[in-house]
Amino acid sequence: MISKVKNAMSSLVGGIMPHGSHHQHGSGGAHGGGGGGGGAAEALPPRFAYSRPEFLDLTPELLQYSTEHASRPVLTPRRDTRLPWRTGYAEVINAGKSMLNEDQACCERLFVKKSSGKQRNSVLLEDHGVRIGLGEHSDGTGIPLHFWGVFDGHAGSGAAIVASRLLHRLIRDRLCDIAHLLENPAQAPPICLTKNGSPYQVDSKKGAPLEEDPDSPNDPSAHFYMEKTVTLESLVMGTIENAFKQMDDLIEKEKSSYSISGGCCALAAVHLMGKLYIANAGDSRAIIIRNNEVIPMSSEFTPETERQRLQYLGFLRPELLGNEFTPIEFPRRIQQKELGKKMLFRDHTMTGWGYKTIVEEDLKFPLIYGEGKKARVMATIGVTRGLGDHDLKVYNSNIHIKPFLSCCPEVKVYNLTEYEHGPDDVMVMGTDGLWDVTTDREVADAVTSFLSCCDPNDSMRYTLAAQDLLMRSRGVLKERGWRLPNDRLGSGDDITVFVIPLVGLRWET
Ligand code: MG
Repeated sequence: MISKVKNAMSSLVGGIMPHGSHHQHGSGGAHGGGGGGGGAAEALPPRFAYSRPEFLDLTPELLQYSTEHASRPVLTPRRDTRLPWRTGYAEVINAGKSMLNEDQACCERLFVKKSSGKQRNSVLLEDHGVRIGLGEHSDGTGIPLHFWGVFDGHAGSGAAIVASRLLHRLIRDRLCDIAHLLENPAQAPPICLTKNGSPYQVDSKKGAPLEEDPDSPNDPSAHFYMEKTVTLESLVMGTIENAFKQMDDLIEKEKSSYSISGGCCALAAVHLMGKLYIANAGDSRAIIIRNNEVIPMSSEFTPETERQRLQYLGFLRPELLGNEFTPIEFPRRIQQKELGKKMLFRDHTMTGWGYKTIVEEDLKFPLIYGEGKKARVMATIGVTRGLGDHDLKVYNSNIHIKPFLSCCPEVKVYNLTEYEHGPDDVMVMGTDGLWDVTTDREVADAVTSFLSCCDPNDSMRYTLAAQDLLMRSRGVLKERGWRLPNDRLGSGDDITVFVIPLVGLRWET
């Protein structure tokens, strides 16, 4: 088995997995992933046909043109397209890494209001408690919610397309479940949890309940049992986290009826009641640029950044490693002749390095192997959070990559009302194709200098800034491939970017 993994690994570094999936690659925005699937699933219809984001409004000819690897056109919305907040958008396909653009994107304005039962929206997927369908029937009332999402697919575009069509609706639907708590924000005090976890509200000044603890009516000792004070902000965060999990479950369930290929990293931003909630599962990135200062709004989840979580999971549940991998990290592969010798190591409890005596168990293939963009979990995948990938297994084995690959996002919050933003203050959300070749600082400088030369009243200025950013990161095709102005290699990955003005709400009607 180890030799199989070694073969797979050397092929990965070389670029192509032996079973020929064109999605496997060792550098340039690689996620790896693949395997599994196939067989009967290929006969199933796709959940959604391949397409680009609806707001691009591509004709069939333009859709075809968008896949031109030789010219790599930068696609943007048309001038007459009005995205919420005058959001800027641009995308470009990779240089032949995959046939189709595996990135997807979504930008929507929705409304949150009290659930009125199952009659709302369509009956599709009702058994999942998901009130979503093919049509969105909103009457424009309720609390406005703005959503931006970038989805970086791997091993196919299926999961990325499904997530880009449904995740925002799942988040909206879950927020509708707590709409009664959101509807009066000015009076919204912290919420307390009762003994059984159900929420009730308290007077934030007095710290006393506004209503009786439903678990303990007329019970003067109710305060004694109070468990936690939960803010509305953390309730929204938890709602978004649960929507990601629900999205992942839904993809798994739908796979029994549809072909949904691969998996995807998901980066979503939700604006609700003056706050931006940025949820990230994968290696896409969001930054806020305020006064040309960079404020990171997400962290990447990779085998290296998540080493201790992965090692701990392998330590707690060794059966997940299929008797083929060791969760302990060494500076290099251990050889048979080193048995009994001392070697540097670190496990899930350690940030630094120590020494241990090598035993037979240590000869197994490392759970995490490789460095930087070539680091892989179980020689298979280069990201550790995302949606989909339920079939993903270690090459030629029955070892599943989940749950090492987790669908849980990290959510960060930015309070828009705490600062006076100018028209050049923006949030940039991009897939790793952007960040692999352009640093946060370079992105901030490029966007700031571009916007400073743009008419502040031009509704297209943020899309033009996004387009400029992509052309810089894609580069120009020369004899030795796509090159940046400094002659470094341009991004060979799909790139998707939103440039979102932080004053965008003022342009909403
Ligand atoms: Mg990518």
